[in-house]
Amino acid sequence: MSRDPRYDILFEPVRIGPVTARNRFFQVPHCNGMGHRDALALARMRATKAEGGWAVVCTEMTEITYGADVAPYVELRLWNDEDIPQLARIAEGVHAHGSLAGIELCHSGYTACNLYSREAPVGPTAMPASSYYYDPIQARGMDKTDIRNLRRAHRAAALRAKTAGYDLIYVYAGHGLGIFQQFLSRATNHRNDEYGGPLANRVRLLKEVIEDTKEAVGDTCAVPVRIAMNEFRGPEGLDPPEVEEAISMIAELPDLWDLSLASWSKDSQTSRFAEEGFQEPYILNVKKLTTKPVVGVGRYTSPDTMVRVIRQGILDMIGAARPSIADPFLPKKIEEGRIDDIRECIGCNICVTGDHSMTPIRCTQNPSMGEEWRRGWHPEKIRPSHASASILLIGAGPAGLEAGRALGQRGYKVTISDAAGEAGGRVARECRLPGLSAWGRVRDWRLLQIGKMPNVELYLESRLTAADALEFGADAIAVATGATWRRDGVGRYHVHPVPIAQDADVLTPDDLMSGKRPSGRNVVIFDDDHYYLGGVLAELLVKEDHAVTLVTPASLASYYTRASLEQAAIQSRLLNLGIIIRANEAVKRVARGEAAVECVFTQRETALAADCVVLVTSRTSNDALYLELTGNHPNVVAIGDARAPATIAHAVHAGRRYAEEFGSPPRDVLDVPFKRELVRLTPA
Ligand code: ADP
Ligand code: SF4
Repeated sequence: MSRDPRYDILFEPVRIGPVTARNRFFQVPHCNGMGHRDALALARMRATKAEGGWAVVCTEMTEITYGADVAPYVELRLWNDEDIPQLARIAEGVHAHGSLAGIELCHSGYTACNLYSREAPVGPTAMPASSYYYDPIQARGMDKTDIRNLRRAHRAAALRAKTAGYDLIYVYAGHGLGIFQQFLSRATNHRNDEYGGPLANRVRLLKEVIEDTKEAVGDTCAVPVRIAMNEFRGPEGLDPPEVEEAISMIAELPDLWDLSLASWSKDSQTSRFAEEGFQEPYILNVKKLTTKPVVGVGRYTSPDTMVRVIRQGILDMIGAARPSIADPFLPKKIEEGRIDDIRECIGCNICVTGDHSMTPIRCTQNPSMGEEWRRGWHPEKIRPSHASASILLIGAGPAGLEAGRALGQRGYKVTISDAAGEAGGRVARECRLPGLSAWGRVRDWRLLQIGKMPNVELYLESRLTAADALEFGADAIAVATGATWRRDGVGRYHVHPVPIAQDADVLTPDDLMSGKRPSGRNVVIFDDDHYYLGGVLAELLVKEDHAVTLVTPASLASYYTRASLEQAAIQSRLLNLGIIIRANEAVKRVARGEAAVECVFTQRETALAADCVVLVTSRTSNDALYLELTGNHPNVVAIGDARAPATIAHAVHAGRRYAEEFGSPPRDVLDVPFKRELVRLTPA
């Protein structure tokens, strides 16, 4: 197939200072939890994006000095020449596929706590260091010598980046993390010298550093500026009119403007809170201010939308972090006229949780993300089967569908059978809940791929017993029958069942998703799961006119979603909907019409009126079929939630892993099943 001429515009080259991008697809810098620790894994991941057609592929933030270290986060470092080889490895991988390599040099100012280097953090103004854990550390306000040293450090890092082979060397003023934004914003710059006060003063350091960088490396390297258009602090911080004014003061100085929002949670909003293109209202005017190319993001996955933003003169290049994670081959697929094959990001931010947990990036849609080097997985290719075999997959949830798709791609004969009338398992049910419709893409993409494979058959409304499965006669069986929410309150807080009166109305998430509803108006949701579902069900019920109280043993609603950047948005949405959040409490007993809750610290009890209690605590694997089959069939496994309940991303990964490893010689469980970066000891 060939490209639809409507999309030709996306493949026009773009000149960026002294370099030229071969098309308009720009993978903007994004964190990935691998950084300096997982050098080769990171290099392969970036190279895979270049292979997939992104004309520019950037690193994540790269610390320019030990004096601004963001430990415990694992980002890149360019502290001195010793770091050059690792950075060079990334650039080489990107160049090997004909793309430009970009590096986001970063000094994180007062958001770098220097937990590793133990230097005193610095910022434009003396203030508490900003960190996830509220570290009891303050940043020192920078004096003139500090500013001079910052400029020297940036220049030295730019030269090292050039030596490492980078084509675009960033000046970073984004996400509240880049120190040049901290100088630009009156929220964080309270200086009264020539670097503080009026905007012309606050923009001074940014201007000087762009000039320094251009002077140092601008002969062969482009110098982009990444800038936050809005800090969402109202009159206390940056907003689009003021940033536009700042941009007009230095409009032609950088070689490219890369636009974003601050903080990161505003920039990478999930599909529950923001649609594709959600940043457009903030960036609309920038192209009118400069002749330099403008890049912006907004979870763009649709080529028609991409064409629109370029034709409307909003952007010159389509920036992407998440769409390039979910589908590293997105540009190639558009180029080859394979629009259907694009694996669209669902906007869940599981990718972000890798960075927050300092573990390699993972993606719900793309199980090969982060596994390119250590397991040798590729987003598009998979090793063909060596011998023919037939495989029965029981369950068409994310695990079963991904296993079926990938085994099918390998050429095996695959049968997937599901008891339900529709495919997708938990995804099919959850995507009907408020704000989660994009999650259906996990199912839709896999069904579409499977539909193209004559060797994969899918049977719905076909509940299998162990006898049915054995009679089927497959060479191998994978049980992907998912998990069921518990009805007894056992979870993290309660290790034994909660006393529940016989006549009490108790529902589980499965009940609600299959259409059951509370018997009366007052509903108490006990959320001891802490991810999205408790909050989403609260939204569902309040919109159906129930009075909802969310009880959580954690200090915040949907506590885990801090890692997916959604927690603040969730808590404010729930509060604005009139949902009462009772933090640090747990449901202790349930009677008809009443729930007893206790404080997790003092165990003091309160009685809440509750016509119905919804228990969102933990799940039990549906492993009965697996247990019956094992011992009666030589090759049977349980995968996904049927093995151990976890996220959708875990289930997709488990399906992929089953398919990747199928037919390989048995491996001793004591053998590490992936490669890892081993520390090379520095001579003592
Ligand atoms: P996972 O996240 O591990 O993929 P899900 O819960 O999403 O798990 O999906 C499990 C699927 O398995 C559901 O669609 C369910 O209908 C199906 N299933 C469960 N038991 C059986 C069975 N005995 N026979 C066929 N399908 C089953
Ligand atoms: Fe998109 Fe979710 Fe994948 Fe991140 S993890 S790229 S948000 S699908």
